[in-house]
Order: sequence, then C-alpha cells, then structure tokens
Amino acid sequence: MVPEIVTIAHKKDEKFLRKKTVAFYFKKFTPKEIRELIARMKRIMHEANGVGLSANQIGLEFKVFVAEVPDAQGGSKFYAVFNPEIERTSTEKIVIEEGCLSIPGSFGEVERAERVAIKGYDKNGKVLKIKAWGLLARVFQHEIDHLNGHLFIDRTKIVHREEQ
Ligand SMILES: [Zn+2]
Repeated sequence: MVPEIVTIAHKKDEKFLRKKTVAFYFKKFTPKEIRELIARMKRIMHEANGVGLSANQIGLEFKVFVAEVPDAQGGSKFYAVFNPEIERTSTEKIVIEEGCLSIPGSFGEVERAERVAIKGYDKNGKVLKIKAWGLLARVFQHEIDHLNGHLFIDRTKIVHREEQ
C-alpha cells in the first residue's frame, strides 16, 4: 500500500472520498505547480500499480485525475484530465470486475457503458475531448465517479475480498 493514498479504512477518510470535489481553478496554480501535481499523481499511481488515480484519493479536493492503460501496441498512453465530464455514453453496457486503490483488497463486478466521450482540460487549460472504449472507458468512468464522490462498491451487488 502507498501511504499517500486515502482509503476507506477510517470513517473520516471515507467521508472525504464521498464528498464531491470542486472545479480545478487554473489561475490559482503556476504551470510548474501543475506539472508537479501531475508528476506526483503519476508517481503515486505507478507505485500503487494502479491504472487511474483521482486527486481526492491523495487528499486534494479538486477535479483532476490521471490514467494510464496499456494500448494494443504494447505501450501505454498517459492522461491527465482536469475538470472532466462525461459528454456521451454508449447504450451498450458491459460488466467488468473492478478494484480501487482506496478500497484495498475488495473487488466487484460493475456494469458501465462500453464507450464514453469525455470532455475536460489539459495541463495548459486547453479543451480536451477524448473518446474511449475498453479498459480506458472503464477507468475514465471510475475516476469521474471518484471526483463526484462515488465509489465502485456503490455500483456493485457483490463485493469480494482478497487478503492483502
Ligand atoms: Zn478508485
């Protein structure tokens, strides 16, 4: 476990994770601070072997997430999205088992849209529109849920636990 990650182990931390985050206000940060924030979130996500991480998972209450999933070419693409919103979702839904860095050892099947189109801003405050499917679409929905104060365990009927 990575100590910087907020988990639901303590009631007050769970309450924090269940609070909706506020908009990221670009003017409050210098470009350097924004770069450092992204680098920090990327490092923590990698240390935790995660594919996505939201700012509130490291105790910050504004809207930004990072994600990195393997692509078909054997590489991976990294995303840092500020003030993300889901613009469209496919009517096709799929069920995949999910876990969460804030809920260590718990897994459950969650039904979500197969494809999504999201809108947000990049580190320079430029509009970013991304269409995603597969694991990436899954991660985007999971992280945007986080920023709205929702956890995957609310969306699954059966949660099973694995010893850490
Ligand atoms: Zn999560």
